[in-house]
Amino acid sequence: MSHVFHRSLTATYPTAVAGDGPYLIDADGKRYLDACGGAAVSCLGHSDAAVIAAVQRQVAGMAYAHSSFFTSEPMEALADFLVARAPAGIASVYFVSGGSEAVESALKLARQYVVERDQPQRRHIIARRQSYHGNTLGALAAGGNAWRRQQFAPLLIDVTHVAPCYAYRDQLSGETDGDYVARLGRELEERIMELGAENVLAFIAEPVVGATAGALPAVAGYFAHMRAICQRHGILFILDEVMCGMGRTGSLFACEQEGVTADLICIAKGLGAGYQPIGAVMVSTTIRDTIRDGTGFFQHGHTYIGHATACAAALAVQQQIERRDLLANVRAMGNLLKDRLVQRFGEHPHVGDIRGRGLFLGLELVCDRATKQPFDPARRLHARIKAQAMQAGLMCYPMGGTIDGQHGDHVLLAPPYIIDGSHVDEVVNKLGKAIDSCLA
Ligand code: PLP
Repeated sequence: MSHVFHRSLTATYPTAVAGDGPYLIDADGKRYLDACGGAAVSCLGHSDAAVIAAVQRQVAGMAYAHSSFFTSEPMEALADFLVARAPAGIASVYFVSGGSEAVESALKLARQYVVERDQPQRRHIIARRQSYHGNTLGALAAGGNAWRRQQFAPLLIDVTHVAPCYAYRDQLSGETDGDYVARLGRELEERIMELGAENVLAFIAEPVVGATAGALPAVAGYFAHMRAICQRHGILFILDEVMCGMGRTGSLFACEQEGVTADLICIAKGLGAGYQPIGAVMVSTTIRDTIRDGTGFFQHGHTYIGHATACAAALAVQQQIERRDLLANVRAMGNLLKDRLVQRFGEHPHVGDIRGRGLFLGLELVCDRATKQPFDPARRLHARIKAQAMQAGLMCYPMGGTIDGQHGDHVLLAPPYIIDGSHVDEVVNKLGKAIDSCLA
């Protein structure tokens, strides 16, 4: 038996040994088209020569220097790159090693900011049901997925959850987008009033919900409205773009398409594309300056923050995306993939919704299209689709609990930005067969 404490202690995993563009290859030579980037990570595929060379150069030159002693060239250059392209008001970047650390850091930075502004009573966090913000305790508490939270609930800080913007299930028939947004805004404002507006620290949301809701974008105007409510009450607005950011939806930051900016933006996954573990919090000028002019330091930190090799990899990834204009390909292949999914599944009796943006797309599976009734969770349809697809040489990211943490199934697709039309066809063919064989 393996000595690795694997994610599942009962599963047997193939051994990944090589990458070739959008494919991963196992020890038996079997090729898997990576249509989900693992968990929306590998946006440049698995064998980008420029990124590999950048990592090798950095490791050979200066692999790591602790950030309490030194800064480094790749860290400075990556921060310059990101801030130059960030939404309005973002001034600096705090580098960590992944998405959960980015969310933890954002929550703590928000808290330190209000303390330094002499508003220590601000402590409540408002998040949304069916969101995912990571698995460390603070990030898990912010997340709104009931199943993920359940057994750890006694260890979690108190977070208030409001409804997600989930038009397929929650928008009433005859309700306009504007009316739906206004209704969600009223709910947020009611929760703020119950907590006392002066006691609320921050609102956190994913611009396009990933793992727990299957590439779920909000209706037009939702984020601008939520942001306006938060601003009116002095509540910090935190966007979690760990999964949907860094070009995944067709713009470098997902919030660009919402016409909003934020006080703090969390990024990870596509930042380093899996070539190195890295995440970051993008920080507003106001927060940076308040802390600079106050205590002067953020009372936080991990051993690997600003890891030089991770920063060098991420910089090379972002430069590749820009030089090769890969976001244009994300938009073009995203449209093509969505069209093909609609052709293949638009009339499928068990596909209720096809949604998403760019190369971040989801299918919501239902037992009955008319009533939108989900499948019995005991069927574990999502797990069976994942296994069936893997057998066919396709990686996709199905998940259960789409509706309430228990009911509902979806399949998330997040292929690398380098795919072409032939890959799109392969994804749709293999996924179609996997879904149909699990429903037969
Ligand atoms: N936030 C979002 C939106 C995510 O999708 C994830 C991971 O899936 C995280 C945070 C946590 O990131 P990590 O798994 O790198 O800690």
